[in-house]
Amino acid sequence: MEFISHLQCAQCGKKANYDTVWNTCPACSKPFVVIYDLKKLKKSIKKDDLKTREPTIWRYHELLPLLDPAHRLCLGEGWTPLYHARRLGQTLGHTELYIKDESSNPTGSFKARGMAVAVSRAKELGIKHVSVPSLGNAATALSAYAALAGMKAYVFMPKDVPKSFIMQCVAYGAKVELVDGTITDCGRVAEQQARDSGRFDMSTLKEPYRIEGKKTMGFEIAEQMNWELPDVVVYPTGGGTGLIGMWKAFEEMENLGWVKAKKPRMVAVQSDGCAPIVRAFTENKETAEPWLKPQTIADGLRVPSAIADFMILHTIRESKGIALTVTDSEIMECLQLISTTQGIFPCPEGAATLAAFRRLREQNWIKDKEKVVLFNTASGLNYLHLWFKTP
Ligand SMILES: *Cc1c(COP(=O)(O)O)cnc(C)c1O
Repeated sequence: MEFISHLQCAQCGKKANYDTVWNTCPACSKPFVVIYDLKKLKKSIKKDDLKTREPTIWRYHELLPLLDPAHRLCLGEGWTPLYHARRLGQTLGHTELYIKDESSNPTGSFKARGMAVAVSRAKELGIKHVSVPSLGNAATALSAYAALAGMKAYVFMPKDVPKSFIMQCVAYGAKVELVDGTITDCGRVAEQQARDSGRFDMSTLKEPYRIEGKKTMGFEIAEQMNWELPDVVVYPTGGGTGLIGMWKAFEEMENLGWVKAKKPRMVAVQSDGCAPIVRAFTENKETAEPWLKPQTIADGLRVPSAIADFMILHTIRESKGIALTVTDSEIMECLQLISTTQGIFPCPEGAATLAAFRRLREQNWIKDKEKVVLFNTASGLNYLHLWFKTP
């Protein structure tokens, strides 16, 4: 069965053929997104059909962009636990606090969801060489799925990235290039080399399929909360794929009649050392200016400029959400608070969502009985350097 309709540019609306290899829209260089025939899909699948399916992202395969299941690359990604964080909630005086814990994904982060789908689709399209700029987690995820697919991966990371990420990429057989600069500089080098060599650029939202993998987080919180979406989702925002992806999932499920029209308020959390989206949100802008000298211990948030800035800002506003910053010391404090109360060892980005929640609860932006989902986007095990004094 096939439910994909076409690709469509999120900015100018240009439609594109699904059978062709695309990066961004040729007319305006903005992201293409996958459009499904939801009317047709609604007739052939019911949410109850999902109950007996496998515990991976592929349980939602009708809403994922692969034509032939034979091209599916699976390492057990997705269907991560959603915990009711009772002890943490008690400490903060909030009963309805939940943590979606992405640390059990392959390579230890939710980047596996996006890469599982994007590398599978790349394989389906006959691509053999793939590259990505990364602050660690996208690189390890791409390297692992490329290994499984028998493809060659090229990863570009800032030279101050934690060594554990470099070692894992090397172990998976990827070619690692360390760049003197930020993720944006890595992106430039990766793109240049991709153009010269014919490699396929897998940068966030510069190809249409990683977001499709990440949107499964939205399906999962709906299914795990018995098809009643939470009031608030708190998300650590770098490139914004997860935030935009979940919103896309909420809209698709609404069209399928799986959830009601009332969707969560989306909260984008950034660090005060790199907050281009928060600044643009606060200044009521539709796009974000690049952040100069990005600096934070939360590597996944060290993204000075996002190609999908306009989509992130649109989603936050449409959902009646908010964007706010937290400090590195709040992040470290919350990292410990989650660990000691819930037995979850989070990444700093995940800890940032708790710091944001605390602030919003104090300001009563989040009300007493509201259901709140925090995202721990990765395992703390890749960030052990934060616990040692030497840099
Ligand atoms: C990439 C990453 C983020 C940011 O995710 P986006 O969807 O690109 O905004 C957050 N946390 C971790 C651990 C990451 O690796």
